[in-house]
Amino acid sequence: MDKQAYGVIIVGAGQAGCDVAFGLRQQGYSSTIRLVGDENYPPYRRPPLSKTFLAGDAPLESLYLRPEASYRDQRIECSYGIGVESIDRRARTVRLFDATQLAFDHLVLATGGKVRRLSLRGADYANVHYVRTIDDILRLKDQFLAGKRLVVVGGGFIGLEAAAVGIKKKLNVTVVEALPRVLARVTSPEMSAFYERAHRSRGVTVLTGTGVHALEGEPPVDTIVLSDGRRIPADVLVVGIGIVPNIELADAAGLAVSNGIVTDSSTKTEAPYIYAIGDCGNHRSSFFDRHVRLESVPNASEQARICAAAICGKPIPPSTVPWFWSDQYDLKLQMAGLIEGYDQIAIRGDPSKESFCALYLRDRTIIAVDAVNRPGDFVASKKLIAERIAASVDRLADDTSPLKALLSGVKTSI
Ligand SMILES: Cc1cc2nc3c(=O)[nH]c(=O)nc-3n(C[C@H](O)[C@H](O)[C@H](O)COP(=O)(O)OP(=O)(O)OC[C@H]3O[C@@H](n4cnc5c(N)ncnc54)[C@H](O)[C@@H]3O)c2cc1C
Repeated sequence: MDKQAYGVIIVGAGQAGCDVAFGLRQQGYSSTIRLVGDENYPPYRRPPLSKTFLAGDAPLESLYLRPEASYRDQRIECSYGIGVESIDRRARTVRLFDATQLAFDHLVLATGGKVRRLSLRGADYANVHYVRTIDDILRLKDQFLAGKRLVVVGGGFIGLEAAAVGIKKKLNVTVVEALPRVLARVTSPEMSAFYERAHRSRGVTVLTGTGVHALEGEPPVDTIVLSDGRRIPADVLVVGIGIVPNIELADAAGLAVSNGIVTDSSTKTEAPYIYAIGDCGNHRSSFFDRHVRLESVPNASEQARICAAAICGKPIPPSTVPWFWSDQYDLKLQMAGLIEGYDQIAIRGDPSKESFCALYLRDRTIIAVDAVNRPGDFVASKKLIAERIAASVDRLADDTSPLKALLSGVKTSI
């Protein structure tokens, strides 16, 4: 059978897939590009899904990353709704689920992740929702009606953002978190305590240290039984318990997978013509000098830039400090760096006024920041982390001394 042949085939039409397609053109790539997505939409932004789009404050069209015409202008051939089923490394082809075969010189895997699901009886009932795709939110949005009882399973970012929208829409909201505190995997006990207070003061019931034991109801679910025996009545459930990277294609093709598709610092897998970027990639970060898998828009975009440079044979840009944001109520959280292994924390500003930041140090060097409604401090801290600046807790906590003044400070190694 004749196969269509492309210079680059990109599997996954999400943030990373879209960015690498346009990045290739920006870097002068002139051969053919094909973007293959399994969702029925052109590439779109996911962050608004748990924020403005769920709240009904953003129209569907505002989610799209690029105007439709720009794909034509940049000669990026796109197809949506049918995914890639398999890769033949020897033949350098992919097979789609409709049996179409496409040949490539370079293959980019930008397959993202899938939500981790509750494995309980009732978890597939219609009032149990997940928050990953436009279709998820189209189903969920109409359930966000004043007076309904919303139970959010999982006190991570997605769950807490959904809880905040629930309060805005005047639902009765309960968050259930199995670990002893919300956001336990991503931040310090101080920040978790702040977010628990912020949600409670706005009307959320936050239950920590207890998991979900069973779902009851003949459908729909009407009661959540917690592992400590408490029973919570519910009309709507939102489950936000993390994602699992989509590694199956790579795994079946014999590529190394370990918490994501393993790549070097240029996003190349062990097959030098196959790359992996975004949420699905476990890449060697030149900033941390070790492998990391991150789930954020800035990470997807940075890896897309690196991948485009690698395919075009250009110098590989270095990894930068990872960062992330989350919007809950009127709280704008911006985070940079990774807190792993911190041994000191400096609180700058006043958490009770909901404008402050937490700076994390390891061996007196600034390694991470969480900034709440402090955009100026966030920008300065990000540079301090990038430059591996040393500082004392007292200096960082002194709100009268600008952080950016430390930028001329002494560089240390991590
Ligand atoms: C609700 C929500 C809120 C978020 N909020 C923030 C935020 O505030 N800040 C932030 O930085 N990040 C946020 N994120 C994370 C961010 O959106 C992701 O890190 C980012 O989208 C990752 O981009 P990606 O291209 O790697 O993956 P994705 O955007 O998930 O795209 C991957 C695409 O590949 C498709 N695919 C998978 N397998 C195949 C196949 N075999 N064939 C074809 N297509 C396939 C998937 O269906 C998907 O469309 C949020 C995520 C969610 C879900």
